[in-house]
Amino acid sequence: MTHPNTIIGAGLVGQLMAINLAQHGAKPLLIGPPPKFLKSMVLAIHPSHMHFFQQLGLDIPSKAIKKMVLQTHHNLQIDQKYSKHAHLCHIVHYGTLVHHIENKRRLHQIAWLKEQPKALNQGRIKIGDAWIEPENIIACDGSHSWTRSHTPILVQREQYDQYAHIAMISHTAAHEIAYQAFLPQGTLALLPTNNPYLTAVIWSCDTQQHVKIKTDSFKNQLSAYTHKLGKIIKIEHHHNMPIVASLAETYAHQNIFLLGNALHTIHPLAGIGFNLAISDCQTLTDTILNRLPPETYTKKRKAQHLKAHYLTRCIAKTRGLHQDKGLNKILKGLLPLQTCQQIILEQIDAICL
Ligand SMILES: Cc1cc2nc3c(=O)[nH]c(=O)nc-3n(C[C@H](O)[C@H](O)[C@H](O)COP(=O)(O)OP(=O)(O)OC[C@H]3O[C@@H](n4cnc5c(N)ncnc54)[C@H](O)[C@@H]3O)c2cc1C
Repeated sequence: MTHPNTIIGAGLVGQLMAINLAQHGAKPLLIGPPPKFLKSMVLAIHPSHMHFFQQLGLDIPSKAIKKMVLQTHHNLQIDQKYSKHAHLCHIVHYGTLVHHIENKRRLHQIAWLKEQPKALNQGRIKIGDAWIEPENIIACDGSHSWTRSHTPILVQREQYDQYAHIAMISHTAAHEIAYQAFLPQGTLALLPTNNPYLTAVIWSCDTQQHVKIKTDSFKNQLSAYTHKLGKIIKIEHHHNMPIVASLAETYAHQNIFLLGNALHTIHPLAGIGFNLAISDCQTLTDTILNRLPPETYTKKRKAQHLKAHYLTRCIAKTRGLHQDKGLNKILKGLLPLQTCQQIILEQIDAICL
């Protein structure tokens, strides 16, 4: 069997890459089990990437965000009116995104072998009893990538000693603004959905807070910081996961290219992991279809990843942004200024795309 472009890993990024290749007339082969996803998971998507979805014929329902409040010692508001985009970002439910992407993959009639490959040898993949000899292999098989482990590519990892707690909460007061609190014990994001009484929570907290949540209750611990939502009625689909950032040293080896979590994972506080993967997917499609040297992919994307990792690491490791009164006084004076907001929004563009 020959399949010029074979994607290993049929998660969100693998299927998106498959659609993008198909849209450019290069139908790939997908290999891997159907994706599983957490029901509480939402993703903040940059406006340019919503536009990219539309170009792929994906009309994804989303909650468009016009205001974002960053809570340190004060409430600092970022306003869409200073952005060059119509909205600051869009909140998309992970399951909805997977559903739309799967429908589009079906429309493109992309071949999919729903099993794990058995071997990878000299650029050839064994699936069942057959060997496939693709021109390009795209590894989208997650942070512990089996495909990547068949290459000499090294990965730099950073263990944060932090956990991401995610959940969907229903509450009594309407909530429409994206809200992020920089608490001494971690970053708490309250992201609105299309139902104003249903909010997605992503709380990246330290080990101490994680233990408190486990031994007390998530509701009790959360209630201290969610007055603006009124009373919490119900918490659904609460999950937690350790936070680990990783970045591959090079992005391609021979005919194998890394993409999505197989290439990098990043602290969730800025909501940019998938956004970076979308831009990577565009660059990789261009590299493959124009037969550019594989190292072009690394050269074009690495600086962007390093910037995003550096910035998120700085924020994640800064403790007590909430309590530093001097810094907060400066922020309170500077942040409402139009030029300051424009600079922040330009920086958000710079690290997301
Ligand atoms: C708490 C949290 C919040 C986040 N919020 C945001 C956000 O707001 N905005 C944003 O842009 N990003 C965000 N992200 C990042 C985003 O979730 C990831 O970038 C994205 O899910 C990566 O998808 P993926 O397909 O690369 O990896 P995965 O979802 O891990 O998929 C990997 C796939 O590979 C398959 N697989 C594994 N091994 C094999 C094998 N041997 N053979 C074949 N297949 C295999 C698996 O079955 C799976 O389907 C967040 C992440 C977290 C943890």
